[in-house]
Amino acid sequence: MLDVSQPSVATSAMPFTPYHFGPGLLVKSLLPRWFSMIGFIATQVLIDCETLYYLITRQYPIHRTFHTFAGSAVAALVLAVLLIGLAAASARYVGKGAVSPRLAATLGGEVSKAGLVVGCLVGGASHTLLDGIFHRDVWPFAPWHQGIPFFSIVGPGDLQLLCVAAGLIGVVVLGVRSWLLRKAG
Ligand SMILES: [Zn+2]
Repeated sequence: MLDVSQPSVATSAMPFTPYHFGPGLLVKSLLPRWFSMIGFIATQVLIDCETLYYLITRQYPIHRTFHTFAGSAVAALVLAVLLIGLAAASARYVGKGAVSPRLAATLGGEVSKAGLVVGCLVGGASHTLLDGIFHRDVWPFAPWHQGIPFFSIVGPGDLQLLCVAAGLIGVVVLGVRSWLLRKAG
């Protein structure tokens, strides 16, 4: 079995978290009303708090429960519930009519229940998948299966490039959508 107890084989030292945002932007551009980028990003940060904790305390492997599909889904759902509560509490302080209809339509998916649940869940699943390709100490299907089926199916450089490309495509599509909305309005 792979020995992930040593830092030398535990993971790449390069921080990978920001690369997750690329695919998130692409999904946001395709499903703007059904996908919360806020929920997506918050999930990436929460999941990598696990990595940070084990890095700081020098315990290996540094990718554990939150980096499995099951663990990331639970973390994502708990976070979605918290964010939905936060959005509902914030809404009480924003008067009706304070936000223009166009802005409300644009931001709707960011704070809606469906948008937050979808954004957090996609964030959790994509985090496990991408980290499972990038880091060899990620066991996506634990606790049922302790294997690394995704590791290195795409090289680290290519994976980073794909994430950046996805983000750029997402930004372009969002820009075009915004331009079309302004033109129509
Ligand atoms: Zn991670």
